[in-house]
Amino acid sequence: MSDDGFFGRFGGKYVAEILRRPVDELEKAFNEATQNTKFLTELKLLQKNFIGRPTPLYFAENASRENGGAPIYIKMEGLAHTGAHKINNAVGQALLAKKMGKTRIIAETGAGQHGLATAAACAKLNLKCEIYMGEVDIRRQQPNVFAMEMYGAKVIAVKSGSKTLKDAINEAMRDWASNFADTHYLIGSALGPAPFPDIVRFFQSVIGQELEEQIQEQNLKVEALCACVGGGSNAIGFFSSFIEQKEIRLIGAEAGGLGPEPNHNAVRMSGTAAKDGIVHGYKSRFLLTEDGQIAQTRSISAGLDYPGIGPQLAALGSEARIEFTAITDKEALEALAFFAKYEGILFALESAHAGAIALKIAKETPKDKVVIINMSGRGDKDIFISSPVFRPNEWSVFLQSELDRLKEGLDIHDAKSLSSSPSKMES
Ligand SMILES: *Cc1c(COP(=O)(O)O)cnc(C)c1O
Repeated sequence: MSDDGFFGRFGGKYVAEILRRPVDELEKAFNEATQNTKFLTELKLLQKNFIGRPTPLYFAENASRENGGAPIYIKMEGLAHTGAHKINNAVGQALLAKKMGKTRIIAETGAGQHGLATAAACAKLNLKCEIYMGEVDIRRQQPNVFAMEMYGAKVIAVKSGSKTLKDAINEAMRDWASNFADTHYLIGSALGPAPFPDIVRFFQSVIGQELEEQIQEQNLKVEALCACVGGGSNAIGFFSSFIEQKEIRLIGAEAGGLGPEPNHNAVRMSGTAAKDGIVHGYKSRFLLTEDGQIAQTRSISAGLDYPGIGPQLAALGSEARIEFTAITDKEALEALAFFAKYEGILFALESAHAGAIALKIAKETPKDKVVIINMSGRGDKDIFISSPVFRPNEWSVFLQSELDRLKEGLDIHDAKSLSSSPSKMES
């Protein structure tokens, strides 16, 4: 656990007075739950039967041969229920909230992946669920909005500021401050005021614990672990068991976007653009404008464009325990195509950043050591982004024909005539 909520000079608990109580209450409940055998047993069962753990550690034999150098292994988090690692945290925190007697969960979401995982966990655990999402993101991410509503969640459009993730976080904090008696705020990455970075790491560290066993079972000598870094939850979970094993390199891939110019990427650790700041209740490295506002960022992957980074990763980066590197959109797309072609595995665009750096490192590493990628998610969710890149004409014809089909009204049932319909229709 972190000392006082700080990791070196990063972290802390920078919240308004009104949030002191829920934050302290949460800290106490979390510390108790992690010592409680009944809680841990229930969590294990959900991990196994609902999430589908353990996820395999898989030898990418063809990709390794084509790439040359060290063998590449993939930790297949994308096989977890709802398609990514986010469900590990969502299920864990939802269970914790339930133990605390909360009946309502709120969460922020950007691209919708965390909202989706939270909505699924709440459906499973019978909790009321409301998701704050920027109006701009709602428009861009309809497939995930649809899934959240199917899982019974209410999606609340955030119309303030840039109408994206950072505004959704602010709105969720505001809601929590007035409703904490019955509501838990389920943060989606290893960031925010203490104790959230510890809580999220705890629930994501199942990835690293499984990996440590799998490395022993398969008798592997590891050169490097590669993870992509948005807020940092998949990375810290994946790295968690290995931080003291200094012979293993820990590599974090950030969104290099279109390149190094300002606002063209989300490079917080490997470049020179980020500054120390206090945003969303914690101190870390942030991309800020001249006057201290959150800067515009860019990445082809919706999950890697957050302008900050979890405090523990910022600390481990500043101590050079984690090596950060920027991977451009183009490099990520190339890695995506490479693993799809040679392994039959479609990475999430985020995870493709980890794939790209792993390919580079494996090339420079002798064959007796291995490089392991955390495939944080699978790529089905990205079809609206990646398909227009690889097959623009076919995709446009497809979208047009779908529109025509809607207009003709063929095969379309009226949801009101169904015995069970999504939350939106009920409200
Ligand atoms: C959200 C997301 C990420 C980035 O979030 P972290 O907190 O940095 O893990 C990475 N990969 C996938 C598939 C995601 O959905």
